[in-house]
Amino acid sequence: MGRLVSLQDNKTVTLIGAGMAGTLLAVLLAKRGYRIELFERNPDPRKGGAPAGRSVNLALGERGRYALRQAGLLAKVDAFAIPMRGRMLHDLDGSMRLQPYGKDESEVIYSVHRARLNECLLDAAEALDGVKIHFDHRLDEIDWAKGRARLVHTRTETELSHDFDALIGLDGAGSAVRQSMNGEMELGVSEELLETGYKEFSIPAGEDGRHQLDPNALHIWPRGGFMLIALANSDGSFTLTLFLDNEAHGDMPGFDQLGDWPAQRAFMEEQFVDAVPLITRLEEEFRDNPVGLLGTIRCRRWHLGGKGLIIGDAAHAIVPFHGQGVNAAFEDCVELMDCIGDGSREWSEVFADLQQKRIDNANAIADMALENYDIMRESVRHEGFLLRKALEHELERRHPGHFVARYSLVMFHRVPYAETYRRGEIQAQILDELLEGVEALEDVDYDKASRLIGERLDPLQERL
Ligand code: FAD
Repeated sequence: MGRLVSLQDNKTVTLIGAGMAGTLLAVLLAKRGYRIELFERNPDPRKGGAPAGRSVNLALGERGRYALRQAGLLAKVDAFAIPMRGRMLHDLDGSMRLQPYGKDESEVIYSVHRARLNECLLDAAEALDGVKIHFDHRLDEIDWAKGRARLVHTRTETELSHDFDALIGLDGAGSAVRQSMNGEMELGVSEELLETGYKEFSIPAGEDGRHQLDPNALHIWPRGGFMLIALANSDGSFTLTLFLDNEAHGDMPGFDQLGDWPAQRAFMEEQFVDAVPLITRLEEEFRDNPVGLLGTIRCRRWHLGGKGLIIGDAAHAIVPFHGQGVNAAFEDCVELMDCIGDGSREWSEVFADLQQKRIDNANAIADMALENYDIMRESVRHEGFLLRKALEHELERRHPGHFVARYSLVMFHRVPYAETYRRGEIQAQILDELLEGVEALEDVDYDKASRLIGERLDPLQERL
């Protein structure tokens, strides 16, 4: 494929981390004619032998899909993405009910296999002229003044010195680039660990090769203080994730209590009666799969002049309860490309512009992701929540472009997260006022609804 000729033809960008955002950004930059040096500490996952990722599959919404569209890759990803039209709630007795996500069937989110998405992005990046991916290379140290990075080959332990013009850290929540930048200039990093950890399980395909649960729903076993969820994979299997506090307290169970198989089995059978018979390797998976940590990382500064920038989880790791980490990281990449524009600006201006545009949005999705944990593990079980959801969708149908449920703004639209949060607060107040003393949708005062929406919410239509 021929290289695009642009003002940047003589420019090289160094990227650290070939995870979700690093591979996408390599594609987007290379398509604009930049040369890319991409370093990844793990081996090439397409050749096998790479360590397992921290979650097997993930939910993609419109933000992530828009970014893939920009990269020309959406059709390829759609070939293995599974649409999910709502949450399938599993009660203690094994009964199920579906809560649709959107106002109609067009509003769905997608379950995507993480490794396949990563491989698809790696293939696309490598197919472009000018992209060089160095697997097995771990970033160890950066001399910012000299513009020099020291990398270590993870198998031979040989060192490589790499001179860079601009370096972008997309090396995830434990970012070495962030640590190095922070040593050079205070980034205002805050790290907040959640009490909840997670462990993954799996349900294999049935004997006929098909899914053993409805693949077009995100399954949730909400139990108040904890929950199990399941997302379908395109090979007929499901990946399940148990979110549970690390330590038991009061009546609330914790991973620390589930040290042996009898305790593990008793807990799972009591709480997830319909899932347990399908998890054929429950004992091995409980023993072998680690408990993962979850947390939120925020930074007040994302760049070091025009030399260094962090984006994705490196700058803003969030808890996974809104399914937005990859979506937000991809959105960073799209916005960075917008900030680069025609390529005539200095990196320092581009990086400062990106930071200014993204920090409030990153903080807003971090907050919404934390709030969504309570919604998923607890609120979804209550009739009041169902009525509120139904009213949100009714108002959306009656006032298109004016009232859009906050969940929908996050998952099905690209309205900036901070604005989504702000509108969500106003909408929550309107819903509270309309639902006071109301037990059914037909009792809602829709004239009052029109008045409140008209007074308090400006139109969204042109930005949707
Ligand atoms: P990563 O994907 O973590 O990539 C970082 C890369 O950098 C890795 O390849 C790593 O090996 C490499 N690296 C690290 N250090 C170095 C170094 N020193 N030198 C060289 N390379 C290095 N998000 C969603 O959108 N939807 C979901 O449903 C969802 N579910 C999740 C479920 C769980 C349980 C968890 C934990 C997360 C979930 N997320 C989800 C969040 C999502 O996984 C992250 O937000 C996303 O992977 C961030 O992308 P990234 O490219 O910034 O970092």
